[in-house]
Amino acid sequence: MRFVSFSSGSCGNCSLLLGPHSGIIIDAGVGIRRIKKELEALHLSFSDVSAILITHDHGDHIRSLGSFCKRLALPVWTTPSLHDSMLWHPFTRDWIAPCRQDLAPNVWNPVTEDFDVQYFVVPHDATQCIGFAIRCEGELFVLMTDLGHTTPEAMQWASLANTVVVESNYDEEMLFGGDYPEELKRRISHGIGHLSNKACAEAIGSFLHPGLRNIFLCHLSGNNNTPELAYKSACEALQAAGVEPGTINLRVLRRGVSSPLLNL
Ligand SMILES: [Zn+2]
Ligand SMILES: [Zn+2]
Repeated sequence: MRFVSFSSGSCGNCSLLLGPHSGIIIDAGVGIRRIKKELEALHLSFSDVSAILITHDHGDHIRSLGSFCKRLALPVWTTPSLHDSMLWHPFTRDWIAPCRQDLAPNVWNPVTEDFDVQYFVVPHDATQCIGFAIRCEGELFVLMTDLGHTTPEAMQWASLANTVVVESNYDEEMLFGGDYPEELKRRISHGIGHLSNKACAEAIGSFLHPGLRNIFLCHLSGNNNTPELAYKSACEALQAAGVEPGTINLRVLRRGVSSPLLNL
Protein backbone atom coordinates (compact mmCIF):
# COMPACT_ATOMS: atom_id res chain seq x y z
CA MET A 1 0.00 0.00 0.00
CA ARG A 2 1.03 3.57 -0.61
CA PHE A 3 -0.50 6.62 1.04
CA VAL A 4 -0.52 10.37 0.49
CA SER A 5 -2.27 13.03 2.52
CA PHE A 6 -3.17 16.11 0.46
CA SER A 7 -4.28 18.06 3.53
CA SER A 8 -5.33 17.26 7.08
CA GLY A 9 -7.15 19.59 9.47
CA SER A 10 -10.10 21.96 9.70
CA CYS A 11 -8.84 23.67 6.51
CA GLY A 12 -9.71 20.50 4.55
CA ASN A 13 -9.14 16.75 4.61
CA CYS A 14 -8.33 14.48 1.70
CA SER A 15 -5.97 11.54 1.32
CA LEU A 16 -5.33 8.70 -1.09
CA LEU A 17 -4.56 5.06 -0.41
CA LEU A 18 -3.14 3.10 -3.33
CA GLY A 19 -3.14 -0.65 -3.76
CA PRO A 20 -1.60 -2.61 -6.63
CA HIS A 21 -4.58 -2.10 -8.97
CA SER A 22 -6.82 0.59 -7.47
CA GLY A 23 -6.92 3.60 -5.19
CA ILE A 24 -9.37 5.06 -2.73
CA ILE A 25 -9.77 8.67 -1.72
CA ILE A 26 -10.59 9.22 1.95
CA ASP A 27 -12.68 12.38 2.52
CA ALA A 28 -13.23 15.12 -0.03
CA GLY A 29 -12.54 18.40 1.74
CA VAL A 30 -9.98 19.68 -0.78
CA GLY A 31 -10.83 21.13 -4.21
CA ILE A 32 -10.89 18.71 -7.13
CA ARG A 33 -8.61 20.90 -9.28
CA ARG A 34 -5.89 20.86 -6.63
CA ILE A 35 -6.20 17.08 -6.24
CA LYS A 36 -5.92 16.66 -10.02
CA LYS A 37 -2.67 18.68 -10.01
CA GLU A 38 -1.31 16.81 -6.99
CA LEU A 39 -2.04 13.48 -8.69
CA GLU A 40 -0.32 14.63 -11.89
CA ALA A 41 2.75 15.62 -9.87
CA LEU A 42 2.86 12.01 -8.62
CA HIS A 43 2.39 10.64 -12.17
CA LEU A 44 -1.12 9.53 -11.20
CA SER A 45 -4.59 10.53 -12.34
CA PHE A 46 -8.22 10.09 -11.32
CA SER A 47 -8.25 6.89 -13.37
CA ASP A 48 -6.13 5.42 -10.55
CA VAL A 49 -8.96 6.10 -8.08
CA SER A 50 -11.87 3.64 -7.85
CA ALA A 51 -13.85 4.75 -4.80
CA ILE A 52 -14.29 7.44 -2.16
CA LEU A 53 -14.70 6.85 1.59
CA ILE A 54 -16.27 9.52 3.82
CA THR A 55 -15.72 9.75 7.60
CA HIS A 56 -18.47 12.30 8.39
CA ASP A 57 -20.53 15.19 7.13
CA HIS A 58 -18.53 18.22 8.32
CA GLY A 59 -17.52 20.72 5.65
CA ASP A 60 -13.79 20.11 6.04
CA HIS A 61 -14.42 16.49 4.96
CA ILE A 62 -17.11 16.86 2.27
CA ARG A 63 -16.77 20.41 0.91
CA SER A 64 -15.75 19.18 -2.54
CA LEU A 65 -17.61 15.86 -2.57
CA GLY A 66 -20.34 17.30 -4.84
CA SER A 67 -17.79 18.12 -7.54
CA PHE A 68 -16.05 14.74 -7.10
CA CYS A 69 -19.43 13.03 -7.68
CA LYS A 70 -20.36 15.27 -10.60
CA ARG A 71 -17.02 14.97 -12.39
CA LEU A 72 -15.89 11.44 -11.52
CA ALA A 73 -19.10 9.53 -10.67
CA LEU A 74 -17.13 7.24 -8.35
CA PRO A 75 -18.89 5.12 -5.72
CA VAL A 76 -19.00 6.94 -2.38
CA TRP A 77 -18.90 4.59 0.60
CA THR A 78 -20.10 5.57 4.05
CA THR A 79 -22.84 4.61 6.52
CA PRO A 80 -26.57 4.80 5.69
CA SER A 81 -27.13 7.61 8.21
CA LEU A 82 -24.31 9.71 6.75
CA HIS A 83 -25.65 9.11 3.26
CA ASP A 84 -29.15 10.10 4.40
CA SER A 85 -27.71 13.31 5.83
CA MET A 86 -25.70 14.06 2.68
CA LEU A 87 -28.86 13.81 0.54
CA TRP A 88 -29.86 17.13 2.19
CA HIS A 89 -26.49 18.73 2.76
CA PRO A 90 -25.84 21.79 0.55
CA PHE A 91 -22.34 20.49 -0.35
CA THR A 92 -23.60 17.14 -1.60
CA ARG A 93 -27.38 17.03 -2.15
CA ASP A 94 -27.36 17.64 -5.93
CA TRP A 95 -24.85 14.91 -6.80
CA ILE A 96 -24.56 12.25 -4.11
CA ALA A 97 -27.57 9.99 -4.80
CA PRO A 98 -26.23 8.10 -7.88
CA CYS A 99 -22.85 7.56 -6.15
CA ARG A 100 -24.34 6.19 -2.94
CA GLN A 101 -22.86 2.95 -1.56
CA ASP A 102 -23.81 1.99 2.00
CA LEU A 103 -21.20 0.32 4.20
CA ALA A 104 -22.61 -2.66 6.07
CA PRO A 105 -21.66 -2.87 9.76
CA ASN A 106 -19.33 -5.52 11.24
CA VAL A 107 -18.35 -7.12 7.94
CA TRP A 108 -15.62 -6.55 5.36
CA ASN A 109 -17.09 -4.42 2.58
CA PRO A 110 -15.33 -5.08 -0.75
CA VAL A 111 -14.90 -1.48 -1.90
CA THR A 112 -12.44 -2.04 -4.75
CA GLU A 113 -10.62 -5.07 -6.10
CA ASP A 114 -7.76 -4.36 -3.67
CA PHE A 115 -9.51 -2.96 -0.61
CA ASP A 116 -11.93 -4.38 1.98
CA VAL A 117 -13.27 -1.91 4.52
CA GLN A 118 -14.86 -2.13 7.96
CA TYR A 119 -15.99 0.95 9.84
CA PHE A 120 -16.27 1.80 13.51
CA VAL A 121 -18.20 4.70 15.03
CA VAL A 122 -16.20 7.33 16.91
CA PRO A 123 -17.58 10.07 19.21
CA HIS A 124 -17.79 13.43 17.40
CA ASP A 125 -20.43 16.13 17.01
CA ALA A 126 -21.48 15.25 13.44
CA THR A 127 -24.51 13.26 12.24
CA GLN A 128 -22.21 10.30 12.81
CA CYS A 129 -18.44 9.95 12.51
CA ILE A 130 -16.59 6.80 11.57
CA GLY A 131 -13.07 5.48 11.48
CA PHE A 132 -11.91 2.92 8.93
CA ALA A 133 -10.10 -0.40 9.08
CA ILE A 134 -8.86 -1.02 5.56
CA ARG A 135 -7.40 -4.35 4.47
CA CYS A 136 -5.20 -4.78 1.40
CA GLU A 137 -2.91 -7.71 0.58
CA GLY A 138 -2.88 -8.90 4.19
CA GLU A 139 -1.94 -5.47 5.55
CA LEU A 140 -4.19 -3.37 7.79
CA PHE A 141 -4.49 0.41 7.62
CA VAL A 142 -6.58 2.14 10.31
CA LEU A 143 -7.69 5.76 10.23
CA MET A 144 -9.44 7.65 13.03
CA THR A 145 -9.95 11.38 12.79
CA ASP A 146 -12.28 13.83 14.51
CA LEU A 147 -12.90 11.88 17.70
CA GLY A 148 -13.59 13.42 21.10
CA HIS A 149 -12.20 10.37 22.84
CA THR A 150 -11.02 6.91 21.95
CA THR A 151 -13.25 3.86 22.17
CA PRO A 152 -12.38 0.23 22.91
CA GLU A 153 -13.36 -0.70 19.33
CA ALA A 154 -11.08 1.95 17.80
CA MET A 155 -8.20 0.81 20.05
CA GLN A 156 -8.87 -2.81 19.16
CA TRP A 157 -8.57 -2.07 15.43
CA ALA A 158 -5.48 0.08 15.92
CA SER A 159 -3.82 -2.68 17.94
CA LEU A 160 -4.02 -4.93 14.86
CA ALA A 161 -2.87 -2.36 12.29
CA ASN A 162 0.40 -1.95 10.42
CA THR A 163 -0.37 1.74 9.86
CA VAL A 164 -2.48 4.00 12.09
CA VAL A 165 -3.58 7.51 11.19
CA VAL A 166 -4.80 9.14 14.41
CA GLU A 167 -5.94 12.63 15.32
CA SER A 168 -3.64 14.80 17.46
CA ASN A 169 -5.71 17.95 17.39
CA TYR A 170 -4.70 20.30 20.18
CA ASP A 171 -2.20 21.04 22.88
CA GLU A 172 -4.12 21.45 26.14
CA GLU A 173 -2.08 24.47 27.30
CA MET A 174 -2.54 26.26 23.99
CA LEU A 175 -6.30 25.57 23.89
CA PHE A 176 -7.15 26.37 27.50
CA GLY A 177 -4.72 29.31 27.73
CA GLY A 178 -5.76 30.70 24.34
CA ASP A 179 -8.44 33.20 23.40
CA TYR A 180 -11.14 30.87 22.03
CA PRO A 181 -14.54 31.54 23.67
CA GLU A 182 -15.20 29.22 26.64
CA GLU A 183 -18.07 27.58 24.77
CA LEU A 184 -15.80 26.66 21.86
CA LYS A 185 -13.05 25.38 24.19
CA ARG A 186 -15.66 23.15 25.82
CA ARG A 187 -16.97 21.96 22.43
CA ILE A 188 -13.49 20.93 21.29
CA SER A 189 -12.38 19.24 24.51
CA HIS A 190 -15.58 17.81 25.93
CA GLY A 191 -15.60 14.26 24.67
CA ILE A 192 -17.37 14.68 21.32
CA GLY A 193 -14.97 17.20 19.80
CA HIS A 194 -11.34 16.42 19.08
CA LEU A 195 -8.45 14.38 20.45
CA SER A 196 -5.71 16.28 22.31
CA ASN A 197 -2.00 15.54 21.92
CA LYS A 198 -2.12 14.05 25.42
CA ALA A 199 -5.08 11.77 24.64
CA CYS A 200 -3.42 10.78 21.36
CA ALA A 201 -0.21 9.88 23.21
CA GLU A 202 -2.22 7.75 25.67
CA ALA A 203 -3.93 6.05 22.73
CA ILE A 204 -0.57 5.30 21.12
CA GLY A 205 0.62 3.77 24.41
CA SER A 206 -2.39 1.47 24.42
CA PHE A 207 -2.44 0.34 20.77
CA LEU A 208 1.32 -0.13 20.28
CA HIS A 209 2.21 -3.64 19.15
CA PRO A 210 5.10 -5.29 17.34
CA GLY A 211 3.42 -5.25 13.89
CA LEU A 212 2.91 -1.48 13.89
CA ARG A 213 5.21 0.28 11.41
CA ASN A 214 3.68 3.72 10.76
CA ILE A 215 1.90 6.28 12.93
CA PHE A 216 0.66 9.39 11.16
CA LEU A 217 -0.72 12.21 13.30
CA CYS A 218 -3.62 14.01 11.62
CA HIS A 219 -6.09 16.90 11.95
CA LEU A 220 -3.81 19.27 13.89
CA SER A 221 -5.41 22.54 14.95
CA GLY A 222 -3.99 25.63 13.28
CA ASN A 223 -4.51 27.76 16.41
CA ASN A 224 -4.02 25.37 19.30
CA ASN A 225 -1.20 23.10 18.20
CA THR A 226 2.07 22.98 16.32
CA PRO A 227 3.52 20.06 14.36
CA GLU A 228 6.50 20.13 16.76
CA LEU A 229 4.33 19.79 19.89
CA ALA A 230 2.21 16.98 18.41
CA TYR A 231 5.31 15.11 17.24
CA LYS A 232 7.07 15.53 20.59
CA SER A 233 4.06 14.27 22.54
CA ALA A 234 3.71 11.13 20.39
CA CYS A 235 7.47 10.58 20.40
CA GLU A 236 7.51 10.65 24.20
CA ALA A 237 4.74 8.03 24.23
CA LEU A 238 6.89 5.78 22.06
CA GLN A 239 9.96 6.34 24.25
CA ALA A 240 7.96 5.68 27.42
CA ALA A 241 6.88 2.36 25.92
CA GLY A 242 10.51 1.48 25.20
CA VAL A 243 10.23 1.63 21.41
CA GLU A 244 13.69 1.92 19.85
CA PRO A 245 14.04 5.16 17.83
CA GLY A 246 13.51 4.49 14.12
CA THR A 247 11.47 1.31 14.66
CA ILE A 248 8.21 3.13 13.96
CA ASN A 249 7.82 5.76 11.29
CA LEU A 250 6.16 8.67 13.12
CA ARG A 251 5.00 11.54 10.93
CA VAL A 252 2.78 14.61 11.19
CA LEU A 253 0.30 15.15 8.33
CA ARG A 254 0.18 18.87 7.59
CA ARG A 255 -2.64 21.33 7.08
CA GLY A 256 -3.07 22.41 3.49
CA VAL A 257 0.14 20.70 2.29
CA SER A 258 0.69 17.29 0.74
CA SER A 259 2.85 14.64 2.33
CA PRO A 260 5.21 12.70 0.07
CA LEU A 261 3.81 9.51 -1.43
CA LEU A 262 4.58 7.12 1.42
CA ASN A 263 5.28 3.42 1.07
CA LEU A 264 3.54 1.70 3.92
ZN1 LIG B 1 -12.55 17.71 10.61
ZN1 LIG C 1 -15.53 17.03 12.18
